[in-house]
Amino acid sequence: MTTCPVCGQRGIGKVGADQYYCCDCCIEFSVRNQDIKIFNVEVDGTLTLYNDLVQGSTVNLEVQKG
Ligand SMILES: [Zn+2]
Repeated sequence: MTTCPVCGQRGIGKVGADQYYCCDCCIEFSVRNQDIKIFNVEVDGTLTLYNDLVQGSTVNLEVQKG
């Protein structure tokens, strides 16, 4: 069972092959092997790396659509 790495809830939806969305946190995360990447979803749909937000810097990534 996959759970949200941020809030630990199971209210997540699958948006890609290895990619999931948590409606509680408004974040997406990808799981590949043991590597989890967390993305913050901006209002315009842009994904920013959540880990970098935590560290205080923002990195813009290309928008990924399901
Ligand atoms: Zn969550």
